[in-house]
Amino acid sequence: MARVEDYDKIISYHEMVAIEKMPLQRGMVFSDGRRKYSILLMSQRKDAVYNDEFDSNGHLIYEGHDVRAEQGIDPKTVDQPLETPAGTWTENGKFYKAAMNFKSGLRREAELVKVYEKIDVGVWSIKGFFQLIDVKRVSDGKRNVFKFHLRPVLRRVFNRVEEMPFNRLIPSGVKVKVWERDRGRCVRCGATENLHYDHDLPYAKGGTSLTEKNIRLLCAKCNLAKSDRIMVFVYYF
Ligand SMILES: [Zn+2]
Repeated sequence: MARVEDYDKIISYHEMVAIEKMPLQRGMVFSDGRRKYSILLMSQRKDAVYNDEFDSNGHLIYEGHDVRAEQGIDPKTVDQPLETPAGTWTENGKFYKAAMNFKSGLRREAELVKVYEKIDVGVWSIKGFFQLIDVKRVSDGKRNVFKFHLRPVLRRVFNRVEEMPFNRLIPSGVKVKVWERDRGRCVRCGATENLHYDHDLPYAKGGTSLTEKNIRLLCAKCNLAKSDRIMVFVYYF
């Protein structure tokens, strides 16, 4: 399982695929038995194809996916499908079934879902782990779409004592803003590899995740230099 610190890492699309050992271009992957969790890719960028959002409880409302584009058909005018033309479940369908089964009590545990968020073209970050607890089929004005309801998971679900404080997570909007402000480079040395979101004032010392003023891009090398300082501090005092 990913550690919370991994949530601040910035990875390329190829690294994301390597971590999950599978192609992810469709953005929704239901767990297949070998994997203990499902995967959803989300975006809150202005150019996002789907309308993913967080409600006031910090729950992710994830929009289902459209029919595949075919000649002469605008996928945005067609109901999002539960089944493929061949009669098998689409990923919408698999997530839908899991959410309904959880709601009705047919399955005791909600489906565990790992969510990645898009920061820029080819640039991604872990949003976190969620439980799929509900789904609704709603009209967007033109056709019916799915709205999957996902609740963030606390650390104790993975047999750890510590709960993950919700405000430790850096909101998607802050991640995108910091990426644009720092132009995809380490603010200390300008490196473009091995980047992550760094808290200027560490979270453990009361620093916030919720404003871009306390978050910056740092490469692994510069971060190590920073943590060496903290190590010395811990050692001698
Ligand atoms: Zn650096």
